[in-house]
Amino acid sequence: MIEEIFPNLYKVEIPLPKNPLKSLNSYVIKDSERNLIIDTGWDQKECMDAMQAGLGALGVDLKKTDFFITHLHADHLGLLSRLATETSTIHFNQLEAERIKSLGWWSGFVDFARINGFPEDELQSALHSHPGFKYGLKSGLPFHILKEADRIKIGEYLFECVETPGHTRGHLCLYELNKKIFAAGDHILDDITPTIQLWSDDWDPLKEYLASLKKVYKLDIELVLPGHRGMIRDYKKRIRELKDHHERRLEEIVSILKKGSQSAFEVASQMSWDVIYEAWDMFPVSQKWFATGEAIAHLKYLEEKNRIRRKIEGQKIVFSLKKDHAIHSP
Ligand SMILES: [Zn+2]
Repeated sequence: MIEEIFPNLYKVEIPLPKNPLKSLNSYVIKDSERNLIIDTGWDQKECMDAMQAGLGALGVDLKKTDFFITHLHADHLGLLSRLATETSTIHFNQLEAERIKSLGWWSGFVDFARINGFPEDELQSALHSHPGFKYGLKSGLPFHILKEADRIKIGEYLFECVETPGHTRGHLCLYELNKKIFAAGDHILDDITPTIQLWSDDWDPLKEYLASLKKVYKLDIELVLPGHRGMIRDYKKRIRELKDHHERRLEEIVSILKKGSQSAFEVASQMSWDVIYEAWDMFPVSQKWFATGEAIAHLKYLEEKNRIRRKIEGQKIVFSLKKDHAIHSP
């Protein structure tokens, strides 16, 4: 499925079979010298078939094509394993390029999930059903590192990088300066909420995400090109909705913790999730994993705001309300 959004700028819809996201929006910008593809899909046959059909219809030669990857999630970068050629420049961010190179980051995930209460018997299946584990990059690739305000000129388009940490640590968007188009990756999505998860204890992703929303709110944007689902025109309204969503989430967690101290996994099991499953026990293990990561991100934010505290009980981290949390509320 191809849609021309602006002259020489196309959306190619890449299916993500059996995933609630349904599909990824890959954006292809054609130029006589070098083409640019923004985000790719998983390293998987269905994704490759759709991409090849799209590029074939558009007459895009991969040997004359560069890539911009918004963030390290497999649905945005995995297919590079099959698409990149010897001449490709792959634009990416420093933090996540390093992350991909570092060995053993999956085992770090598992340990972190365990101390946050994820059941031992479901840990391995959670890992093996994770799309990043199944459909991520299979081999190292040379990345060209971009940072805030770096520019890419392609045909009549002039893109500027906007760092938007939160959904991931190094998340990078592209702002087109003339037409005021914003390639948002997973920073802003319509009708689904970008997931904010935490799987290591050394940053506060929700705090950074809310700051990134504030930063993008100030830009002058005509059209947001998101990584999934439909285009967004009223991005300011959408940003306000996303901010409200997280504020409601934080209050929901505070009310769950009123029942007593609990692990992140236990908190996640009581939060409300917009899914088709009626009860937590029916969630597939992959959904439990994402839900737990979301709960951890929100717990971290509340802890940094001094509203909750953690302690170690047995081998697990449990969180509880600070008695005076109402006085310190943000
Ligand atoms: Zn993502």
